Amino acid sequence: FDQREGVIWYDGEYVPWSDAKVHVLTHGLHYGSSVFEGQRAYGGDIFKLQEHTERLHASARILGFEIPWSVEEINRVCNELMEKSGLVDAYLRPVAWRGSEMMGISAQHNKIHLAIAAWEWPSYFSPEERLKGIRLDHAMYRRPAPETAPYKAKAAGLYMICTISKHEAERKGYTDALMLDWRGNVAEATGANVFFVKDGALHTPVPECFLDGITRQTVIELAERRGLAVHERTILPEELSSFEQCFLTGTAAEVTPVSEIAGTFFEVGEITQTLMRDYIAEVQGGAEAKALRKAS
Ligand code: PMP
Repeated sequence: FDQREGVIWYDGEYVPWSDAKVHVLTHGLHYGSSVFEGQRAYGGDIFKLQEHTERLHASARILGFEIPWSVEEINRVCNELMEKSGLVDAYLRPVAWRGSEMMGISAQHNKIHLAIAAWEWPSYFSPEERLKGIRLDHAMYRRPAPETAPYKAKAAGLYMICTISKHEAERKGYTDALMLDWRGNVAEATGANVFFVKDGALHTPVPECFLDGITRQTVIELAERRGLAVHERTILPEELSSFEQCFLTGTAAEVTPVSEIAGTFFEVGEITQTLMRDYIAEVQGGAEAKALRKAS
């Protein structure tokens, strides 16, 4: 992935894609002092860019550092990078981290870096799989308690258990894994939130030890606009077989149906399909509004 055409915005300038490197003694690499975002552009418009950039700033503050570019500057760069790269439908990845001036746990004065890359990324899960629903295994790790990990930060370190769990699920032939929380309640997938459908209503875990995803919030709004009840509540793994439908939400995953969780099966039903369509209409609405503004 590091040898591509194009440019990456890196600490204030555009550098060729393959030259956007870090030193091996980077604090972010050794001690996980790194935060990132993932946002998608549809028809040239970055969906909920302000929310994503604000979360990036908030994530950095939770890890105790301040990104030396304002939310407005970062937003401007994201849009400029899209134009410079000739991208219309894209995924953008801003990442901020502590540099390599000092080695050791304490790195109070290490330089804070920021880089932003953008590329075409049509689908997180393959389109064929999305149609019939993806298969999840149970994850081998649990989401840590709020007093064990800064769960509101989209921080690189928190993804260690996600990568291990996803790799293990893939090795067994599944696409992803469902993580429980430290108490044993249903939490989320390794990079997306989870929803269930029963008797025409949505059920989803309370985000008290994992990201309250921007897509999650959007889908709750869309469901409520449709008059569907949304229950944010404790969900036990024993309940999985009582649900009719299941889907994941995330910027990369969008709304992705789930057909199975380790031997429990779900249909790709009407409500899941409606919300998939509503989500696509919602994210494309920004591009249409932008085109109208340009035309008037
Ligand atoms: N949980 C995890 C672990 C994630 O990585 C993501 C993707 N950022 C989400 C949930 C969903 O967040 P969002 O909808 O804001 O992309």
